[in-house]
Amino acid sequence: MMGRKPDLPCDIEQVIDLLGIEVIRDTGTQLHCRCPFCADRKAHMNVKIRDNVFRCNRCGKGGGILHLYAEFCEVTLHTAYEELCKIFGPDSNEKPREYKRRRKIIETAELPIASAEVRDNTYSNLLSLLTLCPTHQASLKERGLTRDEIDWLGYRTTPTTRLRRIVTELLERGCVLDGVPGFYCQKDTGQWTLDIRGSGIMLPDRNLNGQIEAIQVRLDKVYNQKFYNLTSIDQYYGTQSKCCPHYVGVHEGDEVVCLTEGVMKADIAYSFALGTSYESGFAGLTGVPSYSQFERALEELNSIGVVRINIMVDSDYQVKEEVRKARDRYIEMGVAAGFEVAPITWTQKRKGVDDLYKHLFRNK
Ligand SMILES: [Zn+2]
Repeated sequence: MMGRKPDLPCDIEQVIDLLGIEVIRDTGTQLHCRCPFCADRKAHMNVKIRDNVFRCNRCGKGGGILHLYAEFCEVTLHTAYEELCKIFGPDSNEKPREYKRRRKIIETAELPIASAEVRDNTYSNLLSLLTLCPTHQASLKERGLTRDEIDWLGYRTTPTTRLRRIVTELLERGCVLDGVPGFYCQKDTGQWTLDIRGSGIMLPDRNLNGQIEAIQVRLDKVYNQKFYNLTSIDQYYGTQSKCCPHYVGVHEGDEVVCLTEGVMKADIAYSFALGTSYESGFAGLTGVPSYSQFERALEELNSIGVVRINIMVDSDYQVKEEVRKARDRYIEMGVAAGFEVAPITWTQKRKGVDDLYKHLFRNK
């Protein structure tokens, strides 16, 4: 679909020429062009000559010959096809249309959020370039996790240096940074960079399909909050973060799922219960209360056949009014959505379900 239509009388190089798109580098098999669709100042548009496809690593636009022509001239694919046949056809002396030579500089302060697929790909690649520092490894061990469990969770330490190299590597891998919270452009240079607002442990927030929709950061230095979500809001070409209900160990056909707060608590509790008679998947809501997120979770859990939800929010609901209110509301919403809802209570000595499970399953 993306490639050359078998009956198109031209190849992508000819169309690049026709449209006057600036070729910065020609490797023989690929052209690196200045992208006409975004404020590209370098050569972010990559053209594969043999495949007749293009893609901009900056704005994400891409496709085949028809897409390129249609997008540039602001016509439909059908019109693009007809016009290219006229221009390059064997018996035509048809003149190409007058192009508005657009090099439109988009002055958006903020970009709309990219799809879950795009975010997952970019975040997965980002995390693959990072490591977990010894201090963070030790602090996770301290919480009761084994080395294998730590590896499996895929947590990483926020990068403080080499940001430029990381971003370059992501672009070279073909990752889209537009609309991915955490990435933004430096206004003066047009360079992409990563917005790290505090050092800590990066926790992948995974949806029901296992895709990383967001990244939570557990901060090393806690002032008024323990976590923040990777974001680039208020930055040039930045994007506001959007978390999803985090799932770990939840599968189609599971009967029971436990509900708790946050990515890390869900991950750790799940790891501790694994292989015990308490083993079950967890859904972690990122931030309490988070009713709209819980609504999404209810729909998703319903769609895979879950019948019961164990509510396992922090035990401080027994003393904190707002935590109790949120818990009551979760119960109400779960029942209204047709689930069996089992609120679980335990001693206040163990605040979170992760502490409770650590006590039950890890300390003999
Ligand atoms: Zn572009």
